[in-house]
Amino acid sequence: MRTIRPRYNESDLETVLLTSEDIQRRISELSSELSEHYQGEDVTIVSILSGALVFTADLIRSCNFPTRLDCLRAESYGNATTAQTPPRITNPLKTDIKNHHVLVVDDILDSGNTLKAIIAHLEKHSPASLKTCVLLDKPARHEKSFSADFCGFSIPDQFVVGYGLDFAERYRNLSCIGVLREELQNSDTHS
Ligand code: 5GP
Ligand code: MG
Ligand code: MG
Repeated sequence: MRTIRPRYNESDLETVLLTSEDIQRRISELSSELSEHYQGEDVTIVSILSGALVFTADLIRSCNFPTRLDCLRAESYGNATTAQTPPRITNPLKTDIKNHHVLVVDDILDSGNTLKAIIAHLEKHSPASLKTCVLLDKPARHEKSFSADFCGFSIPDQFVVGYGLDFAERYRNLSCIGVLREELQNSDTHS
């Protein structure tokens, strides 16, 4: 038997910035750019949990080069809409990346602090190459001169959810990306 349960959905969004179709179309273009860059080389994808989970799942299935998948968890937000602490990497890599091509995949480049910390961490393991791919970029928020090697969309300085991006672990399941209604950003129902 199938039980219908209420779920958080797009009606909680003030605006939809990117539809599912926009995202899928761009992922297909990004995978062509990556395939062109890696030319069939073996690549270790390091996905930054939890935000990059959905993007990584679609991206790796769209790429036509061999991959290994590893994950790092970086935390700084807690249940808030702004960073609460400097980014902390909370798990070790499972794969040996020495002399391997590594592509870090993240959901969004905001201040740049998370990716900077991840890169400093991975560089210590002597990869053959180290590149970054983000779905979203908020150029207005960069604190450090840093840009991703591959980027899906440049977006305005607004807190977005959906397609892996959360507010207090919710909304990751939306297939679009949008701006959460302001009153919900402060609501107790999300803690
Ligand atoms: P940064 O360290 O670049 O400031 O932030 C990177 C991380 O903060 C992202 O990987 C993401 O988890 C979180 N983040 C930054 N901006 C947003 C946003 O607009 N929405 C959500 N849900 N998370 C964000
Ligand atoms: Mg993240
Ligand atoms: Mg988050």
